[in-house]
Amino acid sequence: MAARDAEYRRSPKGRKEGGVSFDVAAALRKSTGRAKSDVANKLVSMFLHDVSRKACAAGRMMVSDPRYTDSVVAAFGQGCLYCGKELTDSVIPVVEHLNGMNRVSVGLHVPGNVAMACKTCNNQKRDDDQRLSLALNGWESFLSHDGSRCAPACRTCAYWSRIWPEESGRVQALSTARQRVLAFQEPYMQFIQWSAGARGILKVKIEALYRDCQRFATDEIEKLVAEVNLEFASAKPSSSSEPS
Ligand SMILES: [Zn+2]
Ligand SMILES: [Zn+2]
Repeated sequence: MAARDAEYRRSPKGRKEGGVSFDVAAALRKSTGRAKSDVANKLVSMFLHDVSRKACAAGRMMVSDPRYTDSVVAAFGQGCLYCGKELTDSVIPVVEHLNGMNRVSVGLHVPGNVAMACKTCNNQKRDDDQRLSLALNGWESFLSHDGSRCAPACRTCAYWSRIWPEESGRVQALSTARQRVLAFQEPYMQFIQWSAGARGILKVKIEALYRDCQRFATDEIEKLVAEVNLEFASAKPSSSSEPS
């Protein structure tokens, strides 16, 4: 339900009361354009994973290192690093990148940038990641929507006010969550600083990779479709067997 909400939030037209239904036509239209950018985004993620492997080797620590996983548990317990909700099967725990591994946030899979979150926060943060409206870091922007700095329609502010309806409690909870992340990252500053320093050059490479992938996909698919059309046309059965 949360994923569906995030997915179709921008097309409320066909939504029935109670949020049971959504705009089917809009979803179908959107699905056509998304295929190519999904491939390009996947490539960006693969690139960032490879860069991460080099950075981990240079820094002599992997995310899978027991010392690292212990430090995640020490900092956040069994809870979501953002909302603190205990991670159970029904809450759906996900591996979370504090700075997302995408074109906007340019996060890496390195110590200090990986912890556990609930699926709902993960979805909600992905939405804010597209704008990074309140801070350069994805996690910091996400945890800064306390309702004091955004337009009333802000979806992330609305999300936090659903979790902590009372204003002063909400401001405090978000501030505590930000401090907890900063304290958690402290021992991994070499990775955090390296990532921040590499961000500019990574962004340039990522934009080139994204563009090239889109271009390759467009050209190659056009070529293959033309070939299929040609071969299919020559093998076309006679008009007598055409479907009625
Ligand atoms: Zn959460
Ligand atoms: Zn906001």
